[in-house]
Amino acid sequence: MGTVYAIANQKGGVGKTTTAVNLAACIAEAGYDALLIDMDAQANATVGLGIPKDAAPSVYDVLSGDATMDEAIRPTGIEHLSLVPASPDLAGASVELPRIEASEGRLRDALVTVRERYAFTILDCPPSLGPLTVNALVAADRVIVPVQAEYFALEGLAGLLDTLGLIQRELNPRLTIAGMLLTMHDSRTRLAQDVEREVREHFPTLVFDTVIPRNIRVGEAPSFGRPVIHHDPHCAGSDAYFELAKEVAARG
Ligand code: ADP
Ligand code: MG
Repeated sequence: MGTVYAIANQKGGVGKTTTAVNLAACIAEAGYDALLIDMDAQANATVGLGIPKDAAPSVYDVLSGDATMDEAIRPTGIEHLSLVPASPDLAGASVELPRIEASEGRLRDALVTVRERYAFTILDCPPSLGPLTVNALVAADRVIVPVQAEYFALEGLAGLLDTLGLIQRELNPRLTIAGMLLTMHDSRTRLAQDVEREVREHFPTLVFDTVIPRNIRVGEAPSFGRPVIHHDPHCAGSDAYFELAKEVAARG
């Protein structure tokens, strides 16, 4: 039985895409079949895996009923890692989806026939709590919330947890929080240490032990179209994402 993870936080720039790509790559490297679905019109996960952002069919075509999930799944050149690309059309899906009845279940329904083939399906959400993120949260079993280790880290988390609770009650009772993940942590700064302590105090059971350091290799890997573990397998960022993959698998 495969597990579907949504990587969500309505804030932009907190490390969602970086976590989605690199977690998927670590899972694939461990020999499990992983499927990454890029739900963001910016297509950063798609491009970060070296696939052009006008690739078709995309997840937009799946959500609008013009393609099946099977048709949209493509290989990435990395063994065990498949991708459903995003396309710029997704920006319009935020307007179109709410007009369709019961549209919040579209991604879940499209995944039914394929999710068993993948031990892990990872959904990279856009920076909003709009219809695309709702589709991802309805399709997901677990959510991972990246939290940037910066001032204002906690801002918006209460709203996000409220939304998760609402989706659990109304749309997807299976949904649980896998964990919050501190990202771009700079252990040399007092600020990052303070933010980490504060987030752990607020959410004692929710925060992953693994912390993702701010690391140049992690930041530059997408410009080479590859995950950091293929860009520099021995850097601190690669080590951290391998640790995270183990922790995610252990939490089940
Ligand atoms: P989101 O998907 O939440 O908008 P991204 O994953 O795209 O956030 O990250 C925002 C920016 O920060 C990107 O340029 C990314 O390369 C960079 N970044 C993310 N994580 C790290 C890290 N651990 N170290 C250095 N740069 C990072
Ligand atoms: Mg992103």
